[in-house]
Amino acid sequence: MRQYGLFVDNEMVEPATGEYLDVVNPARGHVWARVANARADDVGRAVESARRAFESGPWPACRAADRAKLLIRLGQLVEDHAEELAGLQVDENGKLMREMLGQTRLLPEYFNYYAGLAQMPTGTTNPLHVKDMVNYTVREPLGVVAAITPWNSPLLLLAWKLGPALAAGNTVVAKPSEVTPVSVLRLAELAAEAGLPPGVFNVVTGLGSPTGTALTGHPGVDKIAFTGSTATGRAIAAEAGKSLKRVSLELGGKSPNIVFADADLDSAVNGLVAGIFGASGQTCMAGSRILVQESHYDEVVTRLAERAEAIKVGDPRDAASEMGTVACQAQFDKVRHYVEVATADGARLVAGGKPAVVDGFPDGLFMRPTVFADVRNDMRIAREEVFGPIAAVIPFRDEEEAVRTANDTDFGLAAGIWTGEVQRAHRVAGRLRAGTVWINNYRKTSYATPFGGYKQSGLGRENGPDALHEYTEEKSVWVDTGQGVKDPFNPRA
Ligand code: NAD
Repeated sequence: MRQYGLFVDNEMVEPATGEYLDVVNPARGHVWARVANARADDVGRAVESARRAFESGPWPACRAADRAKLLIRLGQLVEDHAEELAGLQVDENGKLMREMLGQTRLLPEYFNYYAGLAQMPTGTTNPLHVKDMVNYTVREPLGVVAAITPWNSPLLLLAWKLGPALAAGNTVVAKPSEVTPVSVLRLAELAAEAGLPPGVFNVVTGLGSPTGTALTGHPGVDKIAFTGSTATGRAIAAEAGKSLKRVSLELGGKSPNIVFADADLDSAVNGLVAGIFGASGQTCMAGSRILVQESHYDEVVTRLAERAEAIKVGDPRDAASEMGTVACQAQFDKVRHYVEVATADGARLVAGGKPAVVDGFPDGLFMRPTVFADVRNDMRIAREEVFGPIAAVIPFRDEEEAVRTANDTDFGLAAGIWTGEVQRAHRVAGRLRAGTVWINNYRKTSYATPFGGYKQSGLGRENGPDALHEYTEEKSVWVDTGQGVKDPFNPRA
């Protein structure tokens, strides 16, 4: 079992307190690594390292082309170590090896994309109504970015921040989830091997408090880029507000996946199953509220229940498994609690609702894919994010009711529309209050396309060409090309 320190100045260092936290494999139930439990002193050390690298170091001052080269080299190393990095994530969060490998193999493309954007012109020259003046704008890095991430996709969600932050010339202190810290520490080692200068990418590990709070409250941090729950997002936004740190938040969801009667039902049911049971339902964009038009409601409920019962829950490293574990004991307890809540509120359990028994894994946190029918949109199972494999199926009469129900939520991260009518597809997409809408598909994302939430699902956008704006300040520079400035009190002198 390996013990990991903090990653500061391109070196693994001991935490000042000597305290460590256990990292547990959720499929096997055993501790397989230990990581530092960083407190304020340790966090301060990492932030100071990032500050030094920003203020006097080579990173913001170096040519964008050189930053780009290093990002591409990091991508290459990730590709070379994809199996290892995917395996670490599987041991951390119990998601399928197949899924984590797919995600990990995509990371180099993120780094390549931002390496390209790093070299794009960032400023403009403005046409002016003012005589004898030229104005141009430049985008400059913010400084030190605190990147705080959850456990469901440890490396992918960090890459969404790391790519644009580094491309723009910022330095970074990452704080991964306490559930999934090892993969991020390994990525930091690879970043150092790729040639990133010391201090450009540091990692502190530990709990939300004291580690996360020490980071967000540190005066040396200029921006907080956060992915996690809405509750934590609110606390972070309040903390950031004290010193007006820049902040971007990718938070929770309760996304509607809407099936109209004119949909291709085979394709729709596949999309519903992938939307909620992929990654054991532990994705922010999970299509956890399934809205089905009345005429096809019973059929969709029956088909969903059959599909859920047939899903093979098993060893995340076995290629035959279709669903792995829930990531940690607290999350497992939360999912089971919501089964009780939904049942007590009168929803009808049609599939799952209990832990899955997997041979050879007596201590695994496996949950059966669960479907509740006859859910009303005012029930807790339709309003609160579970972040687990529970689908809530709600009937609707017509398009008006579908849109009203879909939008009747505090969240606004994503939505799916299944219909055979092109006019309806675009009409409804235009009326949904969500940052991403899929038509006749679900869950696609790309580094080239913005992702983020309306309402309490977040603030700002990740990915896409404008992601660099989240990591830069825009400066406007004025140049006098005329005869200089006259004395304002004696213009004839
Ligand atoms: P979480 O909010 O509990 O923790 C996220 C991170 O924040 C962890 O690293 C944690 O240690 C840290 N943290 C906790 N409290 C903190 C505080 N007060 N100050 C600073 N840091 C703090 O979330 P989680 O349980 O790890 O992840 C699940 C949540 O993440 C879900 O709500 C899910 O929807 C959301 N999520 C959102 C997206 C998105 O892109 N919108 C993607 C994935 C996950």
